[in-house]
Amino acid sequence: MKTEMKEGLSRRQFVQAGSVLAAAAMAPNALLARTTPKPAQDKMVGVQVGANAFIDEGINQVLDTLQQRGQVNTLFISAFTFTNTIGGPLFGKDKLPGHGKLYPNYTGGAFFTPHPQFYTSTAVKDIKAPDHGDFDVLEKVIPEAKKRGLKVYPFIYGHSLRRAIPYMDKALEINFDGKISNTGCEYNPDFKNLITGITRDLCTSYDIDGLMWGSEFQGPLNNVIAATPGEWKLSSPTCFCPFHRKAAEERGINVNRAIEGYRKLIDFSQKATAGQRPINGYFVEFWGLLVDYPEIIAWEKLWTEGHHSTYADIYKTVKAVKPKVEVGFHIWHTNTFSPFARAEQNFERFAQNADFLKTVSYNMAGGKRYSTYIGNLGSTIFRDLPREETLKLNNYFMNYDGMPSLRELPQVGLPSDYVYRETKRALSLVQGKCKIYPGIEINIPSNAAYKQTTPQGVSDATTAALKAGAQGVLFSRNYSEMYLDNISGGGKAIKEFKF
Ligand SMILES: [Zn+2]
Repeated sequence: MKTEMKEGLSRRQFVQAGSVLAAAAMAPNALLARTTPKPAQDKMVGVQVGANAFIDEGINQVLDTLQQRGQVNTLFISAFTFTNTIGGPLFGKDKLPGHGKLYPNYTGGAFFTPHPQFYTSTAVKDIKAPDHGDFDVLEKVIPEAKKRGLKVYPFIYGHSLRRAIPYMDKALEINFDGKISNTGCEYNPDFKNLITGITRDLCTSYDIDGLMWGSEFQGPLNNVIAATPGEWKLSSPTCFCPFHRKAAEERGINVNRAIEGYRKLIDFSQKATAGQRPINGYFVEFWGLLVDYPEIIAWEKLWTEGHHSTYADIYKTVKAVKPKVEVGFHIWHTNTFSPFARAEQNFERFAQNADFLKTVSYNMAGGKRYSTYIGNLGSTIFRDLPREETLKLNNYFMNYDGMPSLRELPQVGLPSDYVYRETKRALSLVQGKCKIYPGIEINIPSNAAYKQTTPQGVSDATTAALKAGAQGVLFSRNYSEMYLDNISGGGKAIKEFKF
C-alpha cells in the first residue's frame, strides 16, 4: 500500500473504548452483545433486477434464486429507465446466462403504473414503458417480497430520456450547437418536476423501503476533454438552454465568454485527437484556455450544481412524503477513474442528501473501463505523455497500488484491493452521515478476450467491501446478465463473513 490506512485506535477512540469496557464490566451481557460477531446477512445485501426477469422466470423463482444463491435481502427493481442495460434485457449478447430471455426491441420507461396526479407540473406524462403491457412490477413483486421479509427499493436510472415520448423535447438539454440532446436538463422545470413526480408517486403509491436514483452523466468540460471510461467521440457539449443561461446570468457568469471559451476548447480537443500538437504542448494549451476563460470552469460548475440539485430534490421529496424510506444514489464508475469527476461528484456533498451511496466499484469489467479512460485522456490533455505513464500518474492521483499495466488491464481486471480502497475512501469521506453500499459486479458483458466474472472474483470483491466496513453490498448491474454460479459466489462470501 502506498498510503497506509490508519487502522489503530486514536487516543480519543481509546478512551471511548475504555469507557465501553468499564460499562460492560457492570453489565457482562452488554459486552457479550458487542463482541459476538454478526453474520453479514444482517447487512444490506441487494441486487439490481428488471421487470423482465419476473415475467420470464416467475416472481417466486427469481426470489428463490436470489435468496438461496445470493443471500439477497433487498431488491433494487428498475422502476424507470430507458437504458437497456438496466431496464431488463441483455444487450449485444447472443448468449443468455442460463436464465431469462432476450429483448431485442426494448423501449423502456416506467415499469410501474404512473398515477396522473403526480405529473401535473411537468409536460411529460406519458412515461409508461410499453415493453410488458399492463404489467406493474412493483404492484406484483412487493407483496411476494414482503412475505419473505425482503425489502424493495425502486431504482430510477439515468437522465437519458426517450425523445419520442410526447413533450419530452421540452425537458431535454440543448447542446452547444443548439440541437436538442437526449439528456434531461437539471435547471428545466419539466425535467425536475418529472423526476420529483416519479419520486412522489413511488413513495405514495407503493409500500417501498427505499429508493435509488442514478445518473451517469457529467458536465461539458469533462465531456470535451474525454474524461470518461466509455468509448468517446467528441460531441457537442451540454447544456446551453435558456434555463442554463438564465442560471448563469444570475450567478454573474458571462454567457458569451463561456460560449467563446467552449468553442476554443472544442477546437483544441478536435486538433488534439487528430494529433496536431500545439507548439507549447497539449497540457499547456489546455491550461492556458482555462486561465483565459475561467467561464469554462464556471459553466462546468453550473452544470454540476444543477446535477447536485436533482439529488437534493429527490431526497427532500422522499423525506416530505414518507421519511422512513431510505434514499440513496448510484455513483457512476467514473468517480473511481477520473480525478476530475471525483473532485466534482464528492461524497461529502452527496452525504448531505442521502441515506446511502452505492459506490460503483466494478472490478472485473473495470479493467477495460480504466484502460479506456486512460486512452481517452491520452488523446487530449495528456497526449504528450506515454500512455503507460498516464496510467501511473493517475494511479497516484487516485491512490491505487498494485494496478496491472495498461496492456494487462482489460485481461486482468482491477484487483479486489481496489474495491477495498474505494469502500474505505467512501466511508472516510461520509463520516457516518450515510451508509456505503458498494456495487459488486456480476457479469457486465465484455469482449471474450477480456476479464470475465468468476464466482471467486465475486466472492473476493464482496469480501473486500465487507472487510472495509461497508454497511451492505449491491450485486450489479442486472440480474438478467448474471450467471447463477457467480451469484452463488457473492452469497458464499456473505455466508462466511462475520463482522
Ligand atoms: Zn439546460
